[in-house]
Amino acid sequence: MKRSRLQNVLLDVAVTLAAVGGATVGMARAEGPTKPVSPVIMINKAAATTPIDTTLLRGPLSMLSGSGGNITVLTGKQGKLMVDAGIAVSRPRVEAALAAISNAPIKYLINTHYHWDHTDGNPWVRDDGATIIATAGTVKRVSRSIRVDDWDFTFPALPARAIPTEVLTANKTYHFDGQTVEVVLVDPAHTDTDLYVVFKEANVASLGDLFWNGVYPFIDNENGGGIDGMIKADDAVLARLKDDVVLVPGHGPVGNKKQFREFRDMLAGVRDKVSALKKQGKSRDEVVAAKPTAPYDAVYGHFVIDPDFFTRIVYDGLR
Ligand SMILES: [Zn+2]
Repeated sequence: MKRSRLQNVLLDVAVTLAAVGGATVGMARAEGPTKPVSPVIMINKAAATTPIDTTLLRGPLSMLSGSGGNITVLTGKQGKLMVDAGIAVSRPRVEAALAAISNAPIKYLINTHYHWDHTDGNPWVRDDGATIIATAGTVKRVSRSIRVDDWDFTFPALPARAIPTEVLTANKTYHFDGQTVEVVLVDPAHTDTDLYVVFKEANVASLGDLFWNGVYPFIDNENGGGIDGMIKADDAVLARLKDDVVLVPGHGPVGNKKQFREFRDMLAGVRDKVSALKKQGKSRDEVVAAKPTAPYDAVYGHFVIDPDFFTRIVYDGLR
């Protein structure tokens, strides 16, 4: 698969981390002289210079990539509606990309979940005038600092003005510039704060980190996520989407339903192998050594979440 500029940057990050740390990306090392730099720091550093690419989707919708998670933009006479805000340091490049689409102001921002690579831009998007929409779980998690050992990073709370003010506890439909915008909440999957967005008339859906197109996903076991929840949520999303839907994944290029189904089947395939080994009493290191992701590595194994890291995530997430 052709890699985007961001994927190449992040691949460089992964290679650098492996070189400086002598350890796998994402592993927290409490001791030893060569503690690796948190991937978060490296990803932020990359975002500070990564150009923003704009991909036209259908109708009035575009995708911006290059600032952490992908950003969806709906534009029209009423203004702009964004799904996810990327990483804060990308602000000048994201603002330039938004201005190139239209001069309409940002009216709404929907956060698909709490992770910083989707919410770190909230303060400037709020300052530009947007009302921010998210699940109650996202509000809870961005309101205080939060430690994620798998990223070896403590994320600070968002400033008060950047905390979503429209708090969803059930699905909600918005009507914005001729589009029916369905915001759908899901049970804990990638995190316990997830939602996704369907733009009905355009037949486009923004799935946040429920879908990583062509790369292994991160799953936030420490904050309610887990491999089984992820598969269950993806099954429910697949059942709802039309066959010719255009999909904005959390990471990776614009996708289609076939790619999303392949991603779901990869999750289930790795889960079944890891689960069988775990049931035999194998330790996490033994399961990693057995390379349960091997059939999928050629497609999915070239990103920040490498095969070993993904295997550990699946193992830890099995209840
Ligand atoms: Zn995420």
